[in-house]
Amino acid sequence: MSIQLFVPKFRVDETLAEIRECMERGWTGMGFKTVEIENRWKEYTGLPHAHFLNSATAALHLAFAVYKEVYGWQDGDEVITTALTFVSTNHAIKYENLTPVFADVDETLCLDPKSIERAITPRTRAVIYVGLGGNPGQLKAVSELCRARGLKLVLDAAHMAGCKLDGRDPGHWADCTSYSYQAVKNMPTADSGMICFNDEEHDLLARKLSWLGISSDTYARSVAQTAPGAKAAPYKWYYDVDHVGWKYNGNAVMAAMALVSLRYLDEDNARRREICALYDELLAGHAKIERVPMAEGSVSSRHLYQVMVDNRDEVVGALNQRGVNPGVHYRDNTVYAPYKQTEDVAPNARRASDRILSLPLHMSLSDDDVRTVAAALIEIVGG
Ligand SMILES: *Cc1c(COP(=O)(O)O)cnc(C)c1O
Repeated sequence: MSIQLFVPKFRVDETLAEIRECMERGWTGMGFKTVEIENRWKEYTGLPHAHFLNSATAALHLAFAVYKEVYGWQDGDEVITTALTFVSTNHAIKYENLTPVFADVDETLCLDPKSIERAITPRTRAVIYVGLGGNPGQLKAVSELCRARGLKLVLDAAHMAGCKLDGRDPGHWADCTSYSYQAVKNMPTADSGMICFNDEEHDLLARKLSWLGISSDTYARSVAQTAPGAKAAPYKWYYDVDHVGWKYNGNAVMAAMALVSLRYLDEDNARRREICALYDELLAGHAKIERVPMAEGSVSSRHLYQVMVDNRDEVVGALNQRGVNPGVHYRDNTVYAPYKQTEDVAPNARRASDRILSLPLHMSLSDDDVRTVAAALIEIVGG
């Protein structure tokens, strides 16, 4: 028997019924269910705009593409970021020829506003903030800082679907927020994501750029032509293309999966918090197992349960021997060639990178599984 890190949970019959509708209607591309998930996500988060995409990586790229275009940012302008993240976060900066500048994390493993402040230069344009594992960290302070300094705040909320900060979606503290519905994230599909801009113009530009720069999408044109009383839209092939955009749109089949996952998001996240509370209880008092504190005032989506230990790689190996398969989120990105730094710019991130591990956390985990994992960890680490 082995206990996996992540196992996505799907409501199979309900999801297949939603997908069946797409097939019966003969509409599996953009439109139809993609419009529905955008509307449901806006209702759920209270955010003004939402655009469904094929991934959160695409969403993050669009955030920087839109801002660069709208605000006339230049190549080499700087975005302050974290080294302790999935590489998508930092690749997105590079896709637009912007320069990632690494600030350090605090004990929540999210960016520390004091370190951000020190990293600001005349070329800083934005901060990208990652709510690691569903932890909002000091997001509110970072939001205030960005406002005071005239910097755009992009929130990488890949781990934050369903998270609440002071009772609201964390996206309320950012200018633009991206969510991931990738298979092992909290609201699983196969691969898809959402981008939520505060500004309507930015949302419209993102829609255009995510559809090759074409100014009106196939579904909108098809609806315009078939709406009762609509004049047959003449010459539908005469659409405009004013940008070299990308093919980043989401499709109705992924949206069908997302609609069902969204129905269960609160319930699933509540179970995640229950599992984490049990880990907390079982691991409390073990000095050699350092737990990561959650931000106050948050109801976390608990994408991850992270602890820090010495000799992490050996501990992971020993857990594997016992059929327990933890993960590491993440290695300090400055160890990778595109992000190599000449100085140790983020010592806390580096220290965490060498010591963190993520314990199994998913819907199929029983309380007994949690006890098995905690007991194995305690036995291996000691103390
Ligand atoms: C998963 C993840 C992404 C990318 O999400 P995709 O939907 O897989 O593209 C971005 N940032 C973080 C922190 C992630 O964990």
